[in-house]
Formats: sequence, C-alpha cells, structure tokens
Amino acid sequence: MKPAPVPVTIGTRPPAPPAQPLGPDGRRGTALMDGFGRVHRDLRISLTDRCSLRCTYCMPEQGMEWLSRSSILSVPEIIRVARICAEAGISTFRLTGGEPLLRRDIVEVVAELAALRTPDGEAVQVAMTTNGIGLDKVIDALAEAGLHRLNISIDTVRPDRFAELTRRNRFNDVIAGIEAAARSALRPLKLNAVAMRGVNEDELVDLVEFAIAHGAQMRFIEQMPLDAGHTWDRNQMVTREEILQALGRRWQLHPIPGRGGAPAEKFQLDNTSDVVGVIASVTAPFCGACDRLRLTADGQLRNCLFSTDEYDLVPVLRAEDPAEGTDDHIDAVLRACIDAKKAGHGIDEPDFLQPARGMNAIGG
Ligand code: SAM
Repeated sequence: MKPAPVPVTIGTRPPAPPAQPLGPDGRRGTALMDGFGRVHRDLRISLTDRCSLRCTYCMPEQGMEWLSRSSILSVPEIIRVARICAEAGISTFRLTGGEPLLRRDIVEVVAELAALRTPDGEAVQVAMTTNGIGLDKVIDALAEAGLHRLNISIDTVRPDRFAELTRRNRFNDVIAGIEAAARSALRPLKLNAVAMRGVNEDELVDLVEFAIAHGAQMRFIEQMPLDAGHTWDRNQMVTREEILQALGRRWQLHPIPGRGGAPAEKFQLDNTSDVVGVIASVTAPFCGACDRLRLTADGQLRNCLFSTDEYDLVPVLRAEDPAEGTDDHIDAVLRACIDAKKAGHGIDEPDFLQPARGMNAIGG
C-alpha cells in the first residue's frame, strides 16, 4: 500500500510521508470530525484565483502571480472531490474565488454539484460568493442548474468610491448583478462588505438600506490579514463593536439566537423582518463552531482560512497509476487535513503568521 499524501507547506518541499498505511481505515464515508469534535459540513470551492476587480484590501494592482491554467482543477476533478466530501457528510458547497463567474464552465459546475447527495439521500446545497459582474447574464442558467443561494460583495454604494476601491469602473455591472439577484427566486440573498476605516465606515447605514431595498441581508466583515499584498493593519480594521455602534444609532439591534456554525452573528433591525449580519473573525472569532473546509482552485485542501499548511490532492487526482489515485486516497487526504485542524486561527497569538497566499487564491 502507498503512504498517505501529507500536508504541503507553501514554499517548502513536502515533508517525508508518515509511516502509516493508506487505504480504508474504517472511516471512509463517516462524518468528518476533527480532534475537537467539530463535524465538517461545508466545503468552500475556489474555482479560480483570478478576478475582474482589484479590491485594494484583497490584491495589489500589479505583480500578482497567477496560478497556471494547467494547475486549475477541471470540472470532473472538482466534482470527484466534492462527491467524496458529500459521502462523508458535507452538505453545503460554496463556490468562490477569485471570481467564480470568470469560469466559463460555471453552470456545469453548479449542475454537477447540485446533483450530489449526502449519505441520507438529501440534496446538497450549492451557494456562490461573487462580485456580481456578469451575474445578470447567467443567473437564470445558474438557478436552473440548481444554485440555491448567492452572496454578492459590494463595499460601497458610491460609484466614485467603488472605482477607487476596486480599481475598476464596474459599478454599474455589479448593480446589474444585484438587481438580477433581487428579481430571482434565490433566497436568502446576502450582500457582503468589508468595513474599513477611512474608506467606507461612513456608509454602513447606507449599505444596509441599499440591501433592504433589494430584498437582501447586509453583512459586514471585519478586515482580515489575508490580502495578497500583506498590507493588513489592525488599526485600519473597523471592529464588530464599531459596526454595531454605527448601526445602533439608526436601528435597535436585536440579536438573533441559533447561529450554529455560521460565521455571521445576526441582528434583527427594530421590529422589522430586516436582518443584518456581522462577521467578526478578528475580534470575536467563531472557530469553536467552525464546520468549514476549503479546496483551492489548484487542488489544495485547507482546514482554515489562516492555515499555513495545505493538503495536496493533485498527486492523487492526476496519478498516472490508477492504484495510487483511488477515492480512498482522496478520502485519506481529506481526513489528514481534518485531523490536523487547530482549535483556532490564532490571529491574536504572538507567533501568528499570515498565510503565503491571499484571499483570492485561498477562496473567500
Ligand atoms: N470575487 C468574489 C467576491 O467578490 O465575493 C468571491 C471571492 S472574494 C475573495 C470573497 C469575499 O472575501 C468578498 O466578500 C471579499 O470582500 C472578502 N475579502 C477579501 N479579502 C478580505 C480581507 N482581507 N478581509 C476580509 N474579507 C475579505
């Protein structure tokens, strides 16, 4: 029997394989539980590291090194990994990137994912995080293919500010995407904004009103140390407390219980049915309930956004010898990744190291 593939730390050679046998270890098809009892039910699939925008907090304008085309997983490769994950209880798949709509085969990816079933025979949920550009042209096909939910990112509702922040003149395209989503049956519709000091912190109420007008929930994300340019500065981050204070001056915020493993803490606005979410990964981490795994566009499994280790599926997916590329091998890599998951992301630990790859390559 061949040894199990082992984690690859970016920028270094893979360590020597452990001396444990690969193959069925009795866990294939059982729940993906880590060493802290967290059962994993959510796989984020990054479809590409490329994007139609260059948001200042995500990517530098110049100097990005893109993944080679040949390293990007094909639809059959993605679906194979997803199927093995579904067999182990993953019930939600979120497509992200980079910008997932840049993939020409996006409708095929959605259709094939939506056809997967959990071990109980339940249909899986397929969601997507997108910047909305081009969504109006493809949303009907995506819905028909089985997409359930959309999160659309919009950090500002001011066209001039949008151009500055994203370094692209695509505001009208994003709005067209949001309007198409508002007309669609895909619910709940969520809009995401990263709250940033001196950039959009004066727009938090406007963003919520914009979301409400489009039948959507606004969600504010604390800025995380995940920019490809490694320029994150904690002082530039608008914190959960500050977000809640700003919104609290306009609405009464009623916490909504029953968050489960969801990243967003939700609040009902006044006595309406309108809801706002806050994702406070930095100041109020929610690692204790994390049920997420990530697959990068080039076939690396990650157990945390902030992990510096990745688990390479490519040697298994593209093994020349079929005996080295079985579903059991994929399952073994998956479980090695889960087994190594730490209790928390450790942003506040003195030895915290920002991952080598940025959010665009990891998959937001
Ligand atoms: N292109 C798609 C989009 O714009 O939604 C999907 C990928 S993008 C990386 C996913 C989400 O990550 C977006 O909502 C974006 O605002 C967020 N994001 C990117 N960099 C971030 C950072 N450093 N901190 C917090 N959120 C970030």
